[in-house]
Amino acid sequence: MTTQTDTIAAMSTPPGAGAIGILRLSGQSAVSIAETCFKPLGHSGLRDHKPRELVYGDLLDSGGQPIDRVLCTYSLGPSSYTGEDTAEFHCHGSPMVLTLGLEALFAAGARQAGAGEFTRRAFLNGRLDLAQAEAVGDLLEAQSREGARHAAGQLAGALSRRIGDIYSALVDVMAHFHAVLDYPDEDIDPFRLEQLDAALSVQEGELNALLASCGRAKLLKDGAACAIVGRPNAGKSSLLNAMVGYDRAIVTDIPGTTRDTVEERCELGGVPLRLIDTAGLRDTTDPVEKLGVERSRRAMEEAELILVLIDSSRPAEDEDFSLLQEAMALAPTILVWTKGDLPSQPCPMKRYEEIRCPAVTVSARTRYLDELCNEISCAFPQDLWGGYGEILTNARQEEAASRAREAVRRAREALQAGMTPDALLTDVEEALAALGEVTGQSVREDVTDRIFQRFCVGK
Ligand code: GDP
Repeated sequence: MTTQTDTIAAMSTPPGAGAIGILRLSGQSAVSIAETCFKPLGHSGLRDHKPRELVYGDLLDSGGQPIDRVLCTYSLGPSSYTGEDTAEFHCHGSPMVLTLGLEALFAAGARQAGAGEFTRRAFLNGRLDLAQAEAVGDLLEAQSREGARHAAGQLAGALSRRIGDIYSALVDVMAHFHAVLDYPDEDIDPFRLEQLDAALSVQEGELNALLASCGRAKLLKDGAACAIVGRPNAGKSSLLNAMVGYDRAIVTDIPGTTRDTVEERCELGGVPLRLIDTAGLRDTTDPVEKLGVERSRRAMEEAELILVLIDSSRPAEDEDFSLLQEAMALAPTILVWTKGDLPSQPCPMKRYEEIRCPAVTVSARTRYLDELCNEISCAFPQDLWGGYGEILTNARQEEAASRAREAVRRAREALQAGMTPDALLTDVEEALAALGEVTGQSVREDVTDRIFQRFCVGK
């Protein structure tokens, strides 16, 4: 354990008034600073209470005056979040109380913590590996339920275990090469060579699967771009409003109201989406509307999912059908019959039934979206990605895993080309080093600096 000589302090709850506000300390003097600034009710001192017990008492300023009546708890390293001695004050969530309390902690010898410094200490003390520490940041920033679940899984060690399995399989292979190097006069049995190649091939496959999970992480972070297209008045803005749960886009029965694209995030069917409400697609001479129509087409080109809306209460037209075909050529598409609460028109074009495109009915008015939710979850199936947290969540992890895969690939090529075991060893060692970077076993300090800077102060 590397207890830092300085003790850091910070507010760990967001600024602003709230029910509870937390001040946090970590470092060699955490408990003695807490003792200076806290007086339990009654005659006991803080250390008369067991670690992790919640002790009721007064938080005091540097002159010994009470600032707030609070709960205080301390933990002793290494059994704490940071691995060092820590203390926490659970105050009333008043910005003024927290400011005064923090000033008292500084006066007693603590210094202001930097961004992510508590978690950084946890990493340095081996309480979390780097992938887990990054998961703390992802958890704080999660924009969707799925994103939060993945971050929680990664924090619990899911990715680290997956990386660890590949790591230990490669160590086994390396051990064999070392054994061969120790007895250079003996030829390697061809059967053994095949076994080694098979072992490397399995790990290459594992790394491929892991790298494929990056798409999922991107989707969780950014949301899948989902373009809502259709003729004017098809109900695009109304559907967007129903999906996000409030009136984001202007709804009128005047065709051509939405002239620009409107973007909003939501989660439907467990899938985080970046909804793009577009200008109605129709031939127009209005220059502003024309620009909007161009943007709609661009939104379709960039979309990962296209919802083609057709008003079920009006006769469908040829234009609807060609739009559907255009969308299907660009991205996975769902045909959405809108205004399902109104009497529907018999579809004049039988051809919709022949087209291989999932079709659902919605009503923005009654907020009936169940069929659409189901269809969206089918478009982005969860089980393709493995368990929660078993995914690579950022460019740093992806880059390191892809270097590991390249090194394994080179090792296999060398093996097949009959290279000597020492040449192979270099590649396998490189793969191990790259994997070690994902979990932080072998990572440069400037890289960790960058990771923790993204955290908020107090985490
Ligand atoms: P957009 O031009 O495609 O964005 O269509 P809007 O969302 O602006 O809707 C056009 C018209 O259809 C408005 O008068 C809406 O009130 C109406 N509308 C939209 N969705 C529904 C629906 O689910 N049910 C009914 N009855 N009317 C709807």
